[in-house]
Amino acid sequence: LFAGQTTFLKGVVAMSGLPPADRVEVCFAGRSNVGKSTLINALTGHKALARASNTPGRTQEINYFTLADSHYLVDLPGYGFAKAPVAVVQKWQNLLKAYLSGRPTLRRAFVLIDARHGVKAVDREILSLLDKSAVPFQTVLTKADKVKTPELEKVIEQVRASLQAHPAAFPELIVTSSEKGEGIATLRSTIAALADS
Ligand code: GDP
Repeated sequence: LFAGQTTFLKGVVAMSGLPPADRVEVCFAGRSNVGKSTLINALTGHKALARASNTPGRTQEINYFTLADSHYLVDLPGYGFAKAPVAVVQKWQNLLKAYLSGRPTLRRAFVLIDARHGVKAVDREILSLLDKSAVPFQTVLTKADKVKTPELEKVIEQVRASLQAHPAAFPELIVTSSEKGEGIATLRSTIAALADS
């Protein structure tokens, strides 16, 4: 699945802009700066693919990529931006809600959590939204290289404990470092397994 081309398809700003729901898709969510673009780049083997999503004007869009021309990889807008105007936040929250509850081919959401910080209040909002939308989600710890093992163990425990309150959560975490390449193969095979089933 990841041996093929991954290409940027489009940025979506309204439900009417979604491509046809004709293939399996997975989405990535996380607070701004969690390392989402870097992880998508590492995952797809493209150096600057998800930079498309980080360019001004694209940050509030749902960005679609085609994986091997047969699956969609969806990059959701980073959340937790304190500076965004209320109207803008409201608009994308509405789009996000509509997307999560109205996309039958969405097989799994990957929620990225910074290994240094664990689950924060802004993350809980998206986890609750995923529960409400009945979208199965899996947590991915990012930047694992930035923390020492005992600290990482503590964060893993904190995240596991937080997940118990969320019925849509998979208990297994995927620990990654885009910097070191850690966990990337696991994430790839997780997505490939979903796509095949
Ligand atoms: P986004 O806003 O979630 O897309 O975050 P970015 O992918 O732009 O990453 C934010 C910052 O974290 C950048 O400076 C990255 O270089 C850095 N970063 C991302 N992933 C890793 C990682 O695995 N390890 C380390 N040490 N830094 C990372």
